[in-house]
Amino acid sequence: MADSCILAPDFWCAKDGVAVMNVVILLGGPGSGKGTIAGRLVAADRTLRHVSSGDLLRDAVKRQTAAGVEADGYMKRGELVPDAIIARMIADLMAGIAGPCTLLLDGFPRTVVQAEILDGTIAGCGASLAAVVLLEVADEILVDRIAGRRACPGCGAGYHVTNIPPRVAGICDACGSALTVRKDDNPETVKNRLAVYQAQTVPLIEFYEARGALRRVPGTGPIDEIVERVRRALS
Ligand code: AMP
Repeated sequence: MADSCILAPDFWCAKDGVAVMNVVILLGGPGSGKGTIAGRLVAADRTLRHVSSGDLLRDAVKRQTAAGVEADGYMKRGELVPDAIIARMIADLMAGIAGPCTLLLDGFPRTVVQAEILDGTIAGCGASLAAVVLLEVADEILVDRIAGRRACPGCGAGYHVTNIPPRVAGICDACGSALTVRKDDNPETVKNRLAVYQAQTVPLIEFYEARGALRRVPGTGPIDEIVERVRRALS
């Protein structure tokens, strides 16, 4: 085990002394900071692996794979892509992971059906679900955060015009590419994504609470503080 591990032993590779893949689910509305938090945690601990379902889908759309072509329209409208498409991508990814690690699942599952499929995938890989972290952020703050969100098309780094500004406005600190606004971050689509979150993803809170796996974390305030809260929730 690496000395740099920031999470308590239960949350990563060892279970009863045997190395396994552990899964931590990051739950929260669009703009709640799942990707940003995952990025910070991974930067501090190389045994963690960030898996963003949105990134997997955007990559599939860019490469025009069969799944990407099918997913594109749903994503543009701010709707969820069919469960089977994204669940297959996640299952393939998990099956391809060789060594023990902790997966930070960001954006998956998003429906109870996906959560049930994930249970099967976890069992099939001999992995284990360590915890579900819910980032709690009020809707009006989510809308504001998404309005200021910028993404780097070159390296995938995420920014916010006021909360996480790049050193030079509009330019990625890491790779120098011009920052862009995600296609589905326009106000109309955002409204739809929030409604979809309430209708289809919020039921997961009860689903995981009933199992005793849910950890609620206030998702507002300085980013370093939120990261620290998540770390504490996982220790
Ligand atoms: P995100 O980057 O997580 O905000 O996701 C962007 C878009 O990708 C969503 O609005 C959905 O259209 C799609 N998407 C991402 N994850 C999922 C998922 N688990 N199930 C269905 N659709 C998803």
